[in-house]
Formats: sequence, structure tokens, C-alpha cells
Amino acid sequence: MTQVKTRRDLILEEMGLTPVWRLRGARAEEAPVAAPEAIPESRASSPEPPQPGIAQEPRVTTHESRITEPGDRRATIMRMEWPGLKEAVASCTSCPLHAKRNKTVFGVGDENADWLFVGEGPGADEDAQGEPFVGQAGKLLDSMLAAIKLQRGTNVYIANVVKCRPPGNRNPEPGEALACEPYLDRQIDLLRPRLIVALGKVAAANLLATDASVASMRGKVHDYRGTPLIVTYHPAYLLRSLTDKAKAWADLCFAVRTMGDLKRETDAAT
Ligand code: SF4
Repeated sequence: MTQVKTRRDLILEEMGLTPVWRLRGARAEEAPVAAPEAIPESRASSPEPPQPGIAQEPRVTTHESRITEPGDRRATIMRMEWPGLKEAVASCTSCPLHAKRNKTVFGVGDENADWLFVGEGPGADEDAQGEPFVGQAGKLLDSMLAAIKLQRGTNVYIANVVKCRPPGNRNPEPGEALACEPYLDRQIDLLRPRLIVALGKVAAANLLATDASVASMRGKVHDYRGTPLIVTYHPAYLLRSLTDKAKAWADLCFAVRTMGDLKRETDAAT
């Protein structure tokens, strides 16, 4: 029987993100609806399955105590509420990245979100619009969110390690990331998300103070100042690497299971 395609299916098809996938064992009304995955022919019948039991592994704590900045800039930032924090970022000149930016990119989303996705920094589109993940990588991130029944702005917040665009889309220098770190720390304190998803090596490296590879950090629950954190690939990388999209899908499944575990832990404690 021919299946009628929904508008969403057609959009995903156009973006090369089909087939539509559903989480194994999920009830129909709960099932994630779309996959961020264009499966290579050779793997179409055996996508990388979520690894059973992995959410039960002990959390991996790799983040050491935060570096103390000279002066009281960090302490001042860590006392700010949302409006003051946004103003501080908009007028910030604390690292060289301010010189060539068009707009700061503070972050966007639900300020009471359970989910926080952290990327590395704005690109050209984000610098022009002042919003994170608005180019092709942003479209893929939105599809990844849709795959686990999330959408930008609803129970999801999206931010970056640095709020100004590194020229030529290079990685932020350590000093730039360090200068911007208190803003993200304060965003996390204000958000109090249940789970952070670090998108790519730069985000993971800065949040977990490690130079480990994304591959070695996937599939584990890390700890960022008391908040569980998992690591997956950056959408911009996934646009260039079809084979790793299957791994990103497995990571999203792992994130969903982890979030379920966290909610059950909270419910049991209350
Ligand atoms: S990247 Fe961060 S620390 Fe640097 S100027 Fe922009 S807001 Fe300030």
C-alpha cells in the first residue's frame, strides 16, 4: 500500500534526511518522528542501534573546578539575571572577537528548558542574524530536535561557547573561550537544564576541560558543574560526514533515554 507522505516527510526528503525513523519500542504517540540520518545503502538495514544499558553507566566526571579569573568580572557575571546578562553580552569587549562581529549571539529558547544544546560559536549567518544555528547546520539541528520530538523554543535552549563569531569560522582560541565562559556558566545556572548536549569537540572540550575526541566521549553521561552532559557531533560536521549521522542518531536515542532516567530519578526523590 502506498504511504501518504506528510509535509514534514517531504521537507526531510528535500534536505536529504530521510528515511523517517522511530525509536524502537516507543509507543506510537510518543515516538520520535524524524531522523537526522541519510543512511548509506550499505547500512540501510542495520543502522547503529542505541546501546542497551549505557544510560545506567556511572557518570563520568571530567570537568575540574572552573578556572578563577582575575578580578571580579566572573563573580559579577555570576550574579546577573537574564536581562543584565543579555545586556552584558551585547556590549562585551572582553576578548578580540568583539572587533569584527556584527551581532553578538546570546542564545535562544525556553528559559525553563530541560534540554540545553551547546555549540561552539556563531558562523556568518548567526553573526548576521544574532541567533545560533540558523544556517544549514541549524536546519539539521532543528531536524535532529524534531527526531526526538523537540523544537527550538519549546523546552529547548540553544547556546554557544563563544557569543561572537571567530573570523573565517575558525575554532575559538582558548583565551576567547575562557573570556566568554562566565556567560555560558551563568546561562546554565539560570536555566538549570536537566541535560546538556555538547555539539562537537569544541563545545565538549570547553565544557569538560578535556582534549578527548568526540568519539571517545560519546555514549557516556559526563558531569558539568553538577549537570549531566552528553556529547555528540556538531551538525556542521554531520553535513560533511554521512557515516557519522548514524552515530548522531544513536546519541540522540541515548539522550532521550538519559532524560527519561533523570526524570524518573527526580520523581523518585519527590
Ligand atoms: S566572544 Fe564572548 S567574551 Fe569575547 S567579546 Fe564576545 S561576548 Fe565578549
